[in-house]
Amino acid sequence: MTFRATVLTLYPEMFPGPLGLSMSGRALEKEIWALETVQLRDFATDRHRTVDDTPAGGGAGMVLKADIVAKAVDHASPVGDERPRLLMSPRGKPLTQPRVRELSGGPGVMILCGRFEGVDQRVIDARGLEEVSIGDYILSGGELAAQVLLDAVVRLLPGVMGNVASGEEESFESGHLEHPHYTRPADFEGMPIPDVLTSGNHGRIAAWRRERALDLTAERRPDLIEKMTRKT
Ligand code: SAH
Repeated sequence: MTFRATVLTLYPEMFPGPLGLSMSGRALEKEIWALETVQLRDFATDRHRTVDDTPAGGGAGMVLKADIVAKAVDHASPVGDERPRLLMSPRGKPLTQPRVRELSGGPGVMILCGRFEGVDQRVIDARGLEEVSIGDYILSGGELAAQVLLDAVVRLLPGVMGNVASGEEESFESGHLEHPHYTRPADFEGMPIPDVLTSGNHGRIAAWRRERALDLTAERRPDLIEKMTRKT
């Protein structure tokens, strides 16, 4: 079954963008997933096709209007649509690999891309939009964030990745960071490839990789080690 992504945006020209290339682009061609964009402005009712207004209570910037967004959401994801309705938002729950994997097992996603200061809270509540963040920094719009999410999800769809195993060995699937990689040449600027990797001893290689992975994680992401020990 095709994974269906519907993206609500003021900038449909930004899609498929990078998602049209490489692994996700080939998967789009093969119809493993489908991408539809909805122009929020098409749901404006006035002559100027206004989608935003000044914030109640004052302050800088503009807010996407609840009535316009609601009409776009109802069009893109009518009653009965089983797909999660996401809103890219720095206030959202940080996106993680387990959530990415969960989404890739579903029928698709509807994604609303915010702009300006964000979206009127009432439509977030009324349409049950799930706020998702891609990190603790502020982008100028939700489009790049939506592309990040879709890239992560699409590569996990069946038939997208050439080598299925490579998806499961990666950083975060196991709870820790991945081991370092090496390839030819054997000597790079005087630096050799670690002996163990050319030893042909698969048991020793696996043990070395695991040890390096855990060392790296302890050094760079002690928070992940703590999470792993809490789980076991
Ligand atoms: N005033 C808001 C920022 C708005 S940025 C605040 O301070 O929280 C404009 C839009 O960009 C947001 O509505 C959201 O859709 C998107 N965006 C910005 N940063 C993001 C992030 N880290 N993750 C996901 N979406 C983000």
